[in-house]
Amino acid sequence: MVTIGTDRLTKTYGDVVAVDGVSLDVAEGEVVALLGPTGCGKSTILRLVAGLEQPTAGHVLLDGRIADELSTRERRVAMVFQDYALYPHLTVAQNIGFPLRSDPEPGVDIPARVAEVARHLGIVELLDRRPRQLSGGERQRVAVARAIVRQPAAFLLDEPLSNLDAGLRAQLRTEVAALARRLGVTTLHVTHDQVEAMTMADRVAVLRRGSLQQIGTPARLYADPRTLFVAAFLGSPRPSLAQAAVYAEPDRVVVDLGSQTIELPRDDPRWAPLADRHTERVTVVLRPEALTPVAPGAVRGPELRGTVRSVENLGHESLVRVDIGALPAAPAQSRLELPEPGRHLTEPPGDRAPGARPAAWSAGTATAGTGGAGPMRPLRQALARMIPSRRPAEVPATARTEYGFYPVYDPELPAEAAGADLVVRLAGPARVRRGESMVLAVDLARMLLFDRAGERITLP
Ligand code: ADP
Ligand code: MG
Repeated sequence: MVTIGTDRLTKTYGDVVAVDGVSLDVAEGEVVALLGPTGCGKSTILRLVAGLEQPTAGHVLLDGRIADELSTRERRVAMVFQDYALYPHLTVAQNIGFPLRSDPEPGVDIPARVAEVARHLGIVELLDRRPRQLSGGERQRVAVARAIVRQPAAFLLDEPLSNLDAGLRAQLRTEVAALARRLGVTTLHVTHDQVEAMTMADRVAVLRRGSLQQIGTPARLYADPRTLFVAAFLGSPRPSLAQAAVYAEPDRVVVDLGSQTIELPRDDPRWAPLADRHTERVTVVLRPEALTPVAPGAVRGPELRGTVRSVENLGHESLVRVDIGALPAAPAQSRLELPEPGRHLTEPPGDRAPGARPAAWSAGTATAGTGGAGPMRPLRQALARMIPSRRPAEVPATARTEYGFYPVYDPELPAEAAGADLVVRLAGPARVRRGESMVLAVDLARMLLFDRAGERITLP
């Protein structure tokens, strides 16, 4: 068993930055999922860890030691790919034993090892069959068995379940995670399926365009997403993202959704941090658990009114989509692509007096920044100079508005995340119908706000 680390791991292919300064640590025996949309660099990270690729910059660490010089074999990692190929002319037992036969380990009793691995995967009765006599799930189990037969120190899984149907995928992801834990094998599991990542992994690393957005336990990522991208990527149903602006007035703070507002009284602990953001454009994320249908005026606290757009009856619960008249916001592009905060505003945020709404904002010249916050900034700037970027140097013209910049539509996010309808969860069959109006009480403690760069605005 090993620990796996990456230290500012970077891989470029010509102009394409496939992996962009990723640093993460996987503890011995831990299962970590690499989660992100297609093309975000997940497979490249796995290939770098396996030694199938060499980093452009940064390092892979195994047990804390730089592994750059080690061959794939010396790294003792096993990989399972989506398009695993079994040898059609060999039996299951011969397929599983193949790695041991082609590269013998001294003192290993091959049939005994094959039998042991087959037992682990519940495929003992299949050992004499050929691959064409197996179902998709059985074949995938054989592929996993073949990968672990050499008793790897680490297990690298690259979307191994994505060719399977939904039911089988759910079953196998539980089995594979249980197997990795039983054998105590350090595991990196790549997937673009957030449910798979959240259910299998001890920790999930969310990636976007080659860089690490956040790593943490599934519960932590869900409850405390640091970026809009992470918030938008997790959760079922996906949360909707609504554009809003913050206005501080002497006796209250208003989160203005355009058609309606969420108001916080002066004595609310969130007043101060929000007042600092007077006139700033923000994105509001309200997940189903932040919303409760109520009778109008029945509870104290903020309410949003809307019209039921659709009802999805799932039997045990219903998902009701409510149009509250808000504008959808998709996450801002990565900070590398954004202008420096404030650069494009003719009126610097600090100069605005509380209570004054922005009258004279106008879009200035778009200048692609090399931003990034905190300690990463010098590194990012250095990398940006060193590495030719595949990213557009200019923010698309559509991103310009009278207020400066909207977050722009992000094709990496699922279509559901681009809507501004609120989703409400009701137990059992819904008694509301399309077109009916609904009043939703908003739990302010569960309201998530993000700034224009897509960074979370933390509220007490
Ligand atoms: P993921 O597994 O998350 O879908 P990949 O790691 O396969 O993403 O790819 C990340 C990016 O690097 C993509 O833009 C992809 O096109 C690019 N890429 C991957 N491998 C190569 C390669 N051998 N040559 C050129 N570009 C590559
Ligand atoms: Mg991939």
